Amino acid sequence: MRYVSTRGGMAPQAFTDILLEGLAPDGGLAVPETIPQIDAATLESWRTLSYAELAFEILQCFITDIPADDLRRLTQAAYRPEVFGSEAIVPLKPLSGGLTLLGLSEGPTLAFKDMAMQLLGHLFEYVLEQRDSTLNILGATSGDTGSAAEYAMLGKQRVSVFMLSPQGRMSAFQRAQMYSLDEPNIHNIAVSGVFDDCQDIVKAVSGDLAFKQANRIGAVNSINWARIAAQVVYYFHGWLRVTTGPGEEVSFTVPSGNFGNILAGHIARSMGLPVRKLVLATNENNVLEEFFRTGVYRPRSAAETHATSSPSMDISRASNFERFVFDLLGRDGARVAALWKSLGQDGYFDLSDHREAFSSQYGFVGGTSSHADRLATIRAVFEQHGVYIDPHTADGVKVARDHVEPGIPMLVLETALPIKFADTIEEAVGRRVPCPPSFEHLEALPQHVASLPCDVQAVKDFIVAKAQ
Ligand SMILES: *Cc1c(COP(=O)(O)O)cnc(C)c1O
Repeated sequence: MRYVSTRGGMAPQAFTDILLEGLAPDGGLAVPETIPQIDAATLESWRTLSYAELAFEILQCFITDIPADDLRRLTQAAYRPEVFGSEAIVPLKPLSGGLTLLGLSEGPTLAFKDMAMQLLGHLFEYVLEQRDSTLNILGATSGDTGSAAEYAMLGKQRVSVFMLSPQGRMSAFQRAQMYSLDEPNIHNIAVSGVFDDCQDIVKAVSGDLAFKQANRIGAVNSINWARIAAQVVYYFHGWLRVTTGPGEEVSFTVPSGNFGNILAGHIARSMGLPVRKLVLATNENNVLEEFFRTGVYRPRSAAETHATSSPSMDISRASNFERFVFDLLGRDGARVAALWKSLGQDGYFDLSDHREAFSSQYGFVGGTSSHADRLATIRAVFEQHGVYIDPHTADGVKVARDHVEPGIPMLVLETALPIKFADTIEEAVGRRVPCPPSFEHLEALPQHVASLPCDVQAVKDFIVAKAQ
């Protein structure tokens, strides 16, 4: 399996060559040259596999330049009960009305990003070992991505993490999760600025190619293809757990921001998984819902981006969306390149000519959820089932209820656990969500974080002093 760019300007490359890269050299995103196909008989033969075994079967379709025995070892190491809390790794939690939560948030940082990031940690370590090299990961986070990356790289030889976060802007729980780490290869940097300032510093540092090369700077952002491939696995897992035979259809609802999670669903469906609908749920930041309703893609400015109570979905543009458009336009890189050029000039593009295909060919539908919807949904689920759901998952449950069909199981992806957003839960149900025992003392632990001014040179100097 080789990888090409969505804009058609990259010679085909192996998986391990794109693993450590960000954007393709032509500004596009790496995608597999062809989408592997899984037939019904193969799918049936996977019913008894453990999560790690299933991950190996699916990932070996995308990763052909790591020997099978090694890949099997890496998936076994990533998806262990000790890391994800149970043998199931991804438990299913039934709700009323045909809905079931797909429990993707049982990993160390209690959000679905652990599902991909834990594998990435092992893949990075393996490839760097092979190349006798080291890597300094530089990132910016407003919460979930940074902690998932840090916990995935804990104790990993050859990898250091430099994570910028906006001073005083994350929840107390999120801060404690990151800053309580006291490891030689993890560096938390609080920047006196907002998330966009952190992001700008990362762009400036990575854009200095001489500095980037000299200090072996890498990224783990949401456009990394390995993260998408790892996420494909749980769509298969969910389907295998709620069906009993070949061809049975299942729908999925996905609380969405950067379009990474639901893109993996699109890939799973393209591989032949019998997925009926892919329901995209957004919060008030409805760039994507608007696209699937109208065919017009219109990214927002920072000023037009609302700060909501499902903050991990507060995005202005959807970085993975280009990969879907590539498929929509018949995998024609030249057309994608032209479209993104016009996006740069006009601030939007219009694919309403293809609107029919969004749902009839690709199964996509969208819906939005507001702060009031979120609170009402958290409250209703608590009253009916006695369980707390987090605000992002609540956006999913709200939109799923609008699209569920009789006889078709609807899996809602649980993207975080409620304890991460305790204030919103309290606003909804009038009481504090109980803290899992292993996290009770988290906020009391000593915190380790360097405070830096909002300044590119200051961050560069810090990296040079601490890099491997
Ligand atoms: C990252 C995140 C999302 C959005 O996922 P995308 O892949 O960016 O669409 C939703 N919910 C939570 C809790 C997240 O951390």
